[in-house]
Amino acid sequence: MSKKLAGKVAVVTGASKGIGAEIARQLGAEGASVVVNYASSRSGADQVVADIASQGGKAIAVQADVSNPIDVKKLFTDARKVFGRLDILVNNAGVYEFAPLEAITPEHFHKQYNLNVLGLLLASQEAVKHFADGGSIINLSSVVSTGAPAFASVYSGTKAAVDAITWSLAKELGPKKIRVNAVNPGMVETEGLHSAGITESDFRKQVEAQTPLGRIGQTRDIAPAVVYFASDDSRWTTGQTLHISGGFR
Ligand code: NAP
Repeated sequence: MSKKLAGKVAVVTGASKGIGAEIARQLGAEGASVVVNYASSRSGADQVVADIASQGGKAIAVQADVSNPIDVKKLFTDARKVFGRLDILVNNAGVYEFAPLEAITPEHFHKQYNLNVLGLLLASQEAVKHFADGGSIINLSSVVSTGAPAFASVYSGTKAAVDAITWSLAKELGPKKIRVNAVNPGMVETEGLHSAGITESDFRKQVEAQTPLGRIGQTRDIAPAVVYFASDDSRWTTGQTLHISGGFR
């Protein structure tokens, strides 16, 4: 059976670990050539590239801070130089920090908005310049965009912005045959979640208790939906936000 993404080229931001790494591996397994972007974890990105190559796929690692416009331009120029075209952008790079209102600082705000919102816009802007024959942009939003838990006003704000941007860009870019969709995961076990101390917390237990399917997610629960939005299977779908959360709202 032919692979769904044969001949396509994808950029996945923040793909050196966590959800982005698994998305890169699954896009590669479906035949896409993958640009594995990372900010600081060169060894993580190299491992993902090696994983894709071991399944017979093609991938390269490219360092870029996605909140920096100069780095973002270079990320897409490199992608084009190596693979010759671009079809898919996965805006996955994101940070999450939690703080009560009284502890919010400009640094807390800008760290999250500069990557989760501005970085996503900068990467989308560059991708659109390089898409030749339409394209697919997939944004990593979150259930917090609508669930808005306490002590997460800034992070929830960034993801509500991602939902709105997804819908707005879907309208703006539809005439260019560029589709824009979002995947909104619930709590997923990743390196980032471990370092935030959430995997061992009461918060995790509360979320699991309120999740119809009774557990938090794994990265392999999320990546297939990104493959779907990247592929022609979703050719008449744009502007959607798909919640993948075991039923947690
Ligand atoms: P993670 O384990 O912390 O991994 C984050 C990735 O983003 C790493 O590859 C990291 O690269 C990269 N990154 C960080 N800053 C960057 C920057 N300035 N430029 C480029 N890349 C950068 O994160 P995750 O938990 O997999 O989350 C991935 C996405 O899913 C985020 O958008 C997050 O908001 C969203 N999400 C996560 C969950 C969850 O429960 N885990 C739930 C809903 C939504 P380096 O390691 O190289 O620095």
